[in-house]
Amino acid sequence: MRLARPTALVFLLCSVSVSAEPVTHRYTVTIDYSMSRLWVEARFSHPVNSVIARSHDAGKFLLDVRGCSDDQQIRMRNLRMMLPAHGISCMNYTVDLERAAREHPYDKMLAPENIIVSPSYWMWRPELRNGTTIQVKFRLPENVQVSVPWQQLPGDGPVYLLSQSPESAFAPAVFGNFDYRELKVPGATLRVSLLNGVEEMDNESIVKWINATATDVSLAYGRFPSPSPQVVVIPVGNGRSNERSAVPFGRVIRDGGETVELQVDQTQSLEALLADWTATHEFSHLMLPYVDRKYRWISEGFAQYYQNVLLARSGAYDDLYAWQKIYDGFERGRQSRPELSPNEATNGDVRNGLMKVYWSGAAIALMADVQLRERSGGNESLDDVLGRFQECCLPSDRAWSGPELFAQLDELASSPVFTPLYRRFADTAGFPDTSDLFERLGLAVSRGKVHIRFFAELRAIRKSILKTDDTTASWRAQLAAN
Ligand SMILES: [Zn+2]
Repeated sequence: MRLARPTALVFLLCSVSVSAEPVTHRYTVTIDYSMSRLWVEARFSHPVNSVIARSHDAGKFLLDVRGCSDDQQIRMRNLRMMLPAHGISCMNYTVDLERAAREHPYDKMLAPENIIVSPSYWMWRPELRNGTTIQVKFRLPENVQVSVPWQQLPGDGPVYLLSQSPESAFAPAVFGNFDYRELKVPGATLRVSLLNGVEEMDNESIVKWINATATDVSLAYGRFPSPSPQVVVIPVGNGRSNERSAVPFGRVIRDGGETVELQVDQTQSLEALLADWTATHEFSHLMLPYVDRKYRWISEGFAQYYQNVLLARSGAYDDLYAWQKIYDGFERGRQSRPELSPNEATNGDVRNGLMKVYWSGAAIALMADVQLRERSGGNESLDDVLGRFQECCLPSDRAWSGPELFAQLDELASSPVFTPLYRRFADTAGFPDTSDLFERLGLAVSRGKVHIRFFAELRAIRKSILKTDDTTASWRAQLAAN
């Protein structure tokens, strides 16, 4: 995540699963042309006696709920649906979509022809354990499209498959009239929704920027890590500050699929967008699965490391600038709550530990990368191990712990690198000492400024980490110039 805004808290109500066999429930979701109401018909593969909506506020937006036949009574208690103990096989309910949309924090940034309402507010469903899935078919008027992160099924009309996921936050569902594009990058088709804001946006420039930053991430191991993520671009204008960045906020959500949400200042140029690191950072997150928040320093750290490495490989940063950014980040991490370990700093109650959370994992990523390259004589790198991880384990439908992730990466490396680094640093106060490593890489530092030495023990490794991909670099340069 790019800094600041707290992620929505997740409230998961408990429910009882009647069957342990993988099953598919079938939902039909209908919306009216003015997007004021949403009707759901839910047909269950077997009688269910409990459904949940992930938001504890969802009940506020329910206008009506009933079973499909008279003997299937559904009551509401404390904003929860109470189904008969013997279960029901079908139900219908109506959601006040207009009101739910108004409560979305981005509502004021959007033009009225498009709205965002998370399925957490309108999707009442059994638990998705043991391979249970829901096939959702949308029935939409001509002027209304939908964007959700769920797996799109082939066939006529918008039909999706919802299955178990880490549910890291509330995914967006976008409804209305917006610019939808399918953008092909190596190994993936991005499902990009360019929303209409209060002021106009140059969508062609935005698409070029998304294309370039997603391509950056394919420079790690030749393909984008997630086959078909939902990308939602929200134009937020330039706010009140003159110094506002081109991309003030971004985040990744793993809820029913993978979403990358990017807020952009549409008044800024394509050149300014291409110089901003946010999208490269967010897309880099997809190289790892959702890592439990207790170990967030790993996911943030790897994204910080890769955002700088990839922006150098794509020619947006020169080598010296990238190493300087990495050095500056490490220094900020070093000064941030030095009495705490990375695991302690990641505890949600800790104040002023954010830079340790963002950079200690980056230092460990650099250490792992150099060790892998050094041990293999340049035949294996962090890119290779993450590429193998993508093949075996991504996208993942669950949260991973830090030790579990590092153990899996070691399984995929020719010799263990990650778990030893975890044991050495995860619960150790302070910041990983990278001074010796910098010295060996030929990165001299004086008065906070990095200098690159020609002669250095690990010169070849230093150069290979940031090696520019010439084709990408010339394409990016052309984009920025036009
Ligand atoms: Zn991040």
